[in-house]
Amino acid sequence: MSSERSHGFIDRLKTRYRVEPARVVSDTEAGLLFARESNTHLNHYIQITDSSAREAAQACQKRFECGESLPLDGVPISVKDQILTKGIPTSCGSRYLEGFIPPYQSTVVQRCLDAGALIYGKTNQDEFGMGSSSENSFAGPVRNPWALDKIAGGSSGGAAVSVSSGGVVCALGTDTGGSIRQPAAFNGLVGMKPTYGRVSRYGVIAYGSSLEQVGPLTQTVSDNALVLEVIAGFDPLDGTSSKEKVNRYTEAVTAGVKGLRVGIPEVFFGEGVDARIGDQVRECVSLLAAQGAEVHEIELPHARYALPTYYILASAEAASNLSRFDGIGFGRRSPNSKDLEELIAASRTEGLGIEVQRRILLGNHVLSSGYSEQYYDKALRVRRLITQDFERAWESVDILVGPTTPTLPWSIGNDSLSPLEVYQMDMLTVFCNLTGVPGLSVPCGVVDGLPVGMQIIGKPFDEATLYAAAGVVEEKSGGRVSFPEIYDGRWTGE
Ligand code: GLN
Repeated sequence: MSSERSHGFIDRLKTRYRVEPARVVSDTEAGLLFARESNTHLNHYIQITDSSAREAAQACQKRFECGESLPLDGVPISVKDQILTKGIPTSCGSRYLEGFIPPYQSTVVQRCLDAGALIYGKTNQDEFGMGSSSENSFAGPVRNPWALDKIAGGSSGGAAVSVSSGGVVCALGTDTGGSIRQPAAFNGLVGMKPTYGRVSRYGVIAYGSSLEQVGPLTQTVSDNALVLEVIAGFDPLDGTSSKEKVNRYTEAVTAGVKGLRVGIPEVFFGEGVDARIGDQVRECVSLLAAQGAEVHEIELPHARYALPTYYILASAEAASNLSRFDGIGFGRRSPNSKDLEELIAASRTEGLGIEVQRRILLGNHVLSSGYSEQYYDKALRVRRLITQDFERAWESVDILVGPTTPTLPWSIGNDSLSPLEVYQMDMLTVFCNLTGVPGLSVPCGVVDGLPVGMQIIGKPFDEATLYAAAGVVEEKSGGRVSFPEIYDGRWTGE
């Protein structure tokens, strides 16, 4: 990474605008045009929100002219379509919610708007967040700018591509089992899944309520830290929101790792993990060691049960959350049904894709009487054991590191992968969601011309330490990840 990158786009943008504030409006026009053009190749947007972006740009320009400035003033961002935007259609990648216009605003979007950000559009995703490739969308698959025949990752694939293509500085994504970190890794980006309760879920269409968080995807660590500062913090509208103080993440980025205890769980590098990715991560671990971190091997005895535990709990919560889609309240209503039962069945059959139907069936099965003790209750107990493994780890180390993904991005439309094999791809990311701790993916190298990510996992509410470690990896891994052609020069303004 060039040192220019690590300074952060947001800082550079703001410096530029301070010199020439009159450019905000014209830059927004150029940015929206680029979004539209690149979307024809990459399919990362479900909708480009021109008029609201223009309006916000005008307001921003006025502030600049008055010498005022907000933390994200004039910064182009995108919002995953799972996150409600008042008055702007929100489909969650589902035909079921096509044309649905939310009557209220999500807290994260409100906070970004209040901070001066310009929202360029709603990004494409796997339907309701269920998937790992952003192919399960009624709007078609998202393409990866690093290799157009490859998946962008998922479920926040459109979010990642909106940033890796150079169109926006930050994307808001959601992560229930890896959906921010995995697409970040596949696109050479920094992606943060904050601690459960750190960021408000108010106005986020629920998939797995006990697992998910909203977080930023950016090209640099410092941009990521700045956006998290804006969106994190207590929200009375979310009953699971934490009152824990929000730290100055932007200051942490340059804090260094001297004396930091880094845990390496062997299972993160074991069976099913591409050794070439493991090697890139180990090289970055030596960079941390060279900067004064201590490296220790760590045992997580129950780690191998994480994936089945996750899929039982996530499906159970999905089945419960999606039961509100009954053809009556909101979204699709199938015409010509004779009675209520037929209306519900027809609306769901027409509106929901195959993967979502599979999760609803699986979820209802593990929750049904006679099976819930065998599956759901047992999964809750295993979740507790995995959480205890992590609590024990924090007694001897400050962070855990490993690869973010076991493989490189696969080809779009690869029918040879069974649903179970796709679930397997989440084996390294679901820990953070099951245990609630923060996890961040930072670019750590390139394998076969494709970027790979290193995952840094931390103690609850210790996002600052993740940014400190990621800051070192970004700075010291000089030139390991450079962006594809489509990105170059996009926002440099020179
Ligand atoms: N791929 C995982 C799933 O399908 C994670 C999705 C997510 O984090 N939203 O459940």
